[in-house]
Amino acid sequence: MVLQDGKYLLEGNIDPLELVQKYGCPLYVYESSIIEAQYKRLTRAFDVEDLQINYAAKALSNINILRYMHSIGAGLDTVSIQEVRLGLKAGFEPQNIMYTPNCVSIEEISAAAKLGVKINIDNISILEQFGTLFPDYPVCIRINPHIMAGGNSKISTGHIDSKFGISFHQMPLIHRILKATGLHVEGVHMHTGSDILDIDVFLQGAEILFQVAKEFPDLKYLDFGSGFKVPYKEEDIETDIEELGEKITARFKLFCEDYGKNLTLMFEPGKFLVSRSGIFLTKVNVVKQTTSTVFAGIDSGLNHLIRPMLYDAYHKIVNISNTTGRQRFYTVVGYICETDTFGVNRRMNEISEGDILAFYNAGAYCYTMSSNYNSRFRPAEVFILNGKDHLIRERETMEDLLRGQVEIETLTPKPELS
Ligand SMILES: *Cc1c(COP(=O)(O)O)cnc(C)c1O
Repeated sequence: MVLQDGKYLLEGNIDPLELVQKYGCPLYVYESSIIEAQYKRLTRAFDVEDLQINYAAKALSNINILRYMHSIGAGLDTVSIQEVRLGLKAGFEPQNIMYTPNCVSIEEISAAAKLGVKINIDNISILEQFGTLFPDYPVCIRINPHIMAGGNSKISTGHIDSKFGISFHQMPLIHRILKATGLHVEGVHMHTGSDILDIDVFLQGAEILFQVAKEFPDLKYLDFGSGFKVPYKEEDIETDIEELGEKITARFKLFCEDYGKNLTLMFEPGKFLVSRSGIFLTKVNVVKQTTSTVFAGIDSGLNHLIRPMLYDAYHKIVNISNTTGRQRFYTVVGYICETDTFGVNRRMNEISEGDILAFYNAGAYCYTMSSNYNSRFRPAEVFILNGKDHLIRERETMEDLLRGQVEIETLTPKPELS
């Protein structure tokens, strides 16, 4: 979304206020041009012969977004059997779907293997069980490199206390199981979680993966996961993808020379591909002045966008109904009946009741984390594909809220006999 001559405009010069008129409010809107630009930035940054970018479906999993990712050449990274099935339905080849579950039952992992997708194993016990059941099915192994990549402990996954991955100190045990079961390893993987600020820390983790990789003779790929940080605030630092790309590319090529074989370099970004592509449009129901604060209360809440309350995430918020005139400070809050704060003391163009506020960076982990808390409907989703808007999910209705609920006969009022 850009501000042009006092008006906010989306891809294809689409006016977000018109989208609200057309599809209602609150509304999630995604722009394909931004996803494509981010994808191209990644593929340019890593200048290797074989590069595969697997989009992490959990960031934004609407089937149309998955199909779009497939159309621009991405593979898919999945964390549940349901995401695997969505990916297959979206048209991904099983071989281009990586399944990276954590604390999932062997039954679910077996079901994924039967669908033919790449299996990433992150637990010694599962390695034993999988090797016994599917000795001929080559696997990927998720290594925990014991590094602390980013600041936020809720999304950091590569440190020593994390539940993710198999410690690289357990290599002898891994080899013993491989030998006993006959299982082959075709890839090694690490994913350190979001917020790579320090490229050198990431490279340290990568060195550990290179060390581990040397011990497996039949590798086809090395997967460095994700964690590419995107800016949420103006002054935020983002992962310098170009610098990271240059350094990893050089090191990866050296590794392949040493290894004696060209491998595929893999990444699995979610946030980097879709975060900036999304905006969330909401309407101001009330402006409420208390003794200490001016609140702007909107027609949404943590049921639709939980990141501020869950992760203390910052989402930039702008008043797109009023782009000129004086600015005031507002605390933007939701309608959920508990503390439900989107942003505190934000300087914004003066708000009148009925104005539309737009949240930035609403592509990743926003709709996919939404719920029906307070028995509210989830919003509609619109995808602007090559400059044209498409409704890709309907706003929910009472039927959606009641779907699947089974009414006990003796509690259900009988229609009056007349
Ligand atoms: C969530 C996740 C990702 C995507 O992380 P982002 O920070 O959104 O890029 C990649 N790989 C795995 C295994 C994940 O669980």
